[in-house]
Amino acid sequence: VIAPGATLGILGGGQLGRMIALAAASLGLKVHVFSPDEDSPAFDVCHAVTRAPFDDEETLGRFARACDVVTYEFENVPRRAAEIVAALAKLRPNADALAITQDRLAEKTFVSDLGLPTAAFRGVLDEASLAQAVGELGRPSVLKTRRFGYDGKGQAVLRDGSDLAAAFASLSAAPSILEAFVPFEREISIVAARGVDGSFAAWEPVENEHADHILSVSRVPARIDAATADEAASLARRIGDGLDYVGVFAVELFLLTGEAGQRLVVNEIAPRVHNSGHWTIEGAETSQFEQHVRAVCGWPLGSPASRGAVEMRNLIGEQANAWSAVLAEPGAHLHLYGKAEARAGRKMGHVTRVTPRI
Ligand code: AMP
Repeated sequence: VIAPGATLGILGGGQLGRMIALAAASLGLKVHVFSPDEDSPAFDVCHAVTRAPFDDEETLGRFARACDVVTYEFENVPRRAAEIVAALAKLRPNADALAITQDRLAEKTFVSDLGLPTAAFRGVLDEASLAQAVGELGRPSVLKTRRFGYDGKGQAVLRDGSDLAAAFASLSAAPSILEAFVPFEREISIVAARGVDGSFAAWEPVENEHADHILSVSRVPARIDAATADEAASLARRIGDGLDYVGVFAVELFLLTGEAGQRLVVNEIAPRVHNSGHWTIEGAETSQFEQHVRAVCGWPLGSPASRGAVEMRNLIGEQANAWSAVLAEPGAHLHLYGKAEARAGRKMGHVTRVTPRI
């Protein structure tokens, strides 16, 4: 049994780790952050820090032994590092969930094997298999590296006339996946938690707006009908059960509207707290960060009920320079991640506004 006073380890030290650490401290836990980076947002707010690369197995082992439970805040923690930690400490979510969700081909295969809708997809290893996949799925289609893609990086849209060899080369000829293009109307996500005992709690679906492939605004309520919202929760539950998942995760979804009404297609799973769940800090009874801590400690899950209509706006790059104007606005909740340099495209913070729901 993990009780307040225990140590929660976090693999990764970005803003997600920082906000998990803040929630953990509120619940009386100590947090130990493992990060390969010289300076990490989570370092400012934790009890202990280990700075080492993920392939430093001895240091990883020492870190794991110093923790009562370990979680991760990003999906590119190498599988081997996760397995080393899992052999010495409770690792939640488990290493298999990480391995599946860090590989787009394994992830799409897993989701479609559950009987859930995804874009049609094919694995791509070389130019010949790319040409064959394009023949089968047609154009437009989306070529993505299997690993390490984020915010639209590691992706190329293949249109009529696109040069396949050039597109594959633009992804460094890395093992990839080709997906049929989904003519979606909007992008939705569902953030949910699964407990050690299989308990499940989902926040209401979120509607997401991107700018330059980076999440810009998340809003609840999403403009979806009640049956579609139920469908989102039910597919998240099946994914959580299928991964034997413990903790918070997000499922990114495409919303399509046709003659038969609204329909969802699964795009990807994030095995961690998610940017489209930041609104829950002020906008829900339990934040995604607190919920993640509750789940990985084996504690009861909290209520995901919303507290109003909520808008979460990311502060990207220089947008964070407007911090004092945000502070001057009644009811605007400012979160800054403590990053020194406001580089273009970098998530520096976010602002949440909660208003009464009409
Ligand atoms: P991802 O990295 O998979 O989240 O993709 C980044 C963005 O590219 C998504 O948010 C969509 O806007 C777009 N996208 C990804 N996959 C597809 C697809 N199969 N069809 C249409 N748009 C896509």
